[in-house]
Amino acid sequence: MNILVLNSGSSSIKYNLWEMNEKKLLCKGLVEKIGMDDSSVTFSVNDKKKTIQKVITDYNEGIELILDIITDKEDGVLKNIKEIDAVGHRIVHGGEKIIQSELVTPEIKKIIDECALLAPLHNPHNLEGIVEIEKVLPGVPNVAVFDTAFHSTMPPESFIYPLPYEFYEKHKIRRYGFHGTSHKYVSLRGAELLKIWHNKFNCITCHFGNGASIAAIKNGISVDTTMGFTPLAGLPMGTRTGNIDPSIILYMIQELGYTPEEVSDIINKKSGFLGISGISSDMREIREAATKGDEKAILTLKIFSHSAKRSITAMTPELDGRLDAIIFTGGIGENSPITREMICQGLSIIGAYLDVDKNNSLRGEGIISKDDSPVKIMLIPTNEELMIALETQKLVGESVYKFNCTDK
Ligand code: AMP
Repeated sequence: MNILVLNSGSSSIKYNLWEMNEKKLLCKGLVEKIGMDDSSVTFSVNDKKKTIQKVITDYNEGIELILDIITDKEDGVLKNIKEIDAVGHRIVHGGEKIIQSELVTPEIKKIIDECALLAPLHNPHNLEGIVEIEKVLPGVPNVAVFDTAFHSTMPPESFIYPLPYEFYEKHKIRRYGFHGTSHKYVSLRGAELLKIWHNKFNCITCHFGNGASIAAIKNGISVDTTMGFTPLAGLPMGTRTGNIDPSIILYMIQELGYTPEEVSDIINKKSGFLGISGISSDMREIREAATKGDEKAILTLKIFSHSAKRSITAMTPELDGRLDAIIFTGGIGENSPITREMICQGLSIIGAYLDVDKNNSLRGEGIISKDDSPVKIMLIPTNEELMIALETQKLVGESVYKFNCTDK
C-alpha cells in the first residue's frame, strides 16, 4: 500500500510517499513559496537531493508538480499515480468535535472549514490540499489527521480556562493543545523501546522545535499539555511569547497605544528567543552566541530551560505517582544537548538523572539517563509523517501496522 502524506502550509506543501508493507519512505519533498516569483520544489529520492526553480502559481499547480515528480521517468518512484492508494493530510485544528483521525467526507471538510476561525494560518491551506487532491486523484481516499485530536482525552480540569463558563459553552474557548501527532508518535516509540505496553505507559513528552509544547501522557493518553486555545501558549518559542500575564496585552493596548494587530504581531512574530536575544529565532544561533558569552543569548537559554523544567515538574502529579520516561523530540529536543542538559539539571527531584556523556554522544533514538535513573530520559526523533501514514493506513487499509507496545 502506497500512502502520500501532505502537509499544506500557508505557501508551501511538504510531502512524503510511504510504502506501508515495508514501512519505507519512498521519496519526500517540499514545494515552497507558492504564488511568489521565486517558488521552487526540492525533493529527494534515495538520498539524492534536487531543487527545481519554477513559478508555481497555486496549490493545484503545486500538487500536480508533486505527482509529476513522483511518477517522473528519471526521478520518480511510481509508474503511475494510480499506484497511490490513499492520501493522509496534516490538519492543525479539529476543534472539539474531532477526537481521532477521520476519513474525509463533506462533513469533515465542513468541520475543518469551521475551525479555520481557530487556526486561520493553517486550516484553510490544509483544506485546500484536500480539495486539490480530490480533483487530481478522484476516488482515492483522503484521511485527515488532526494535531488537536490526541489531546481530546484531556480531562476538563486540564482544558477549561477559569473564565466565566459561558466562554467555553458559547464560544468554545478552551485548551485544545497541538503537536498531537508528534506527542503520540514519540510516546508510542518510547513505550516500544522500553518494552512497556502503551496503555500502561506514563511519560512526559517534550516537542521542542520552532514551536514548543510539553504533554503529560498517562496510560498512553494525553492528560495535559502546555499549548492552549492556540499554539501561542505555553513555553517561550522561536518568535512566540508562550504564557505571559494576560494583563500585559491590555496594558500594551490601553496604556502604550499599540493596536491589537500590532500586539498580535509582537507576541507571535517578534518575541520568544528572537525577542529576548535580539539575535535570532534559531536555537543554533542562540547557542553559538551563548558560547561566545553573549548575555542575552545565555538568558534566552536560561528562560527556556526554566520554563520547560517548571512545566515538566508541574505535570508529574497528574501521573498518579509513576513517571516512566521524559522524552525529548523536535529540532531543538533532538539536536541540542546543551538545552537538554540545562532542562534536566534539577530534575533529579522527580527521579530523572541525566547521563551527560550519553546526552552529548547519542545520535538517533535511545536512552540518555543514567542506567539506574528511576525515570528514563529519552531522545526520540519525531516522525509525524510516518504517524500520519499509519493513521491513514488504519482507516483505509486491511493490514495495519502495530507498534510492539500496543496490545490491540
Ligand atoms: P523544527 O521546528 O522541529 O524543525 O525545529 C527547529 C528548531 O530546531 C530551530 O530552533 C533550530 O535552530 C533547532 N535546531 C535544528 N538543528 C539544531 C542543532 N543542531 N542544534 C540546535 N538546535 C537545532
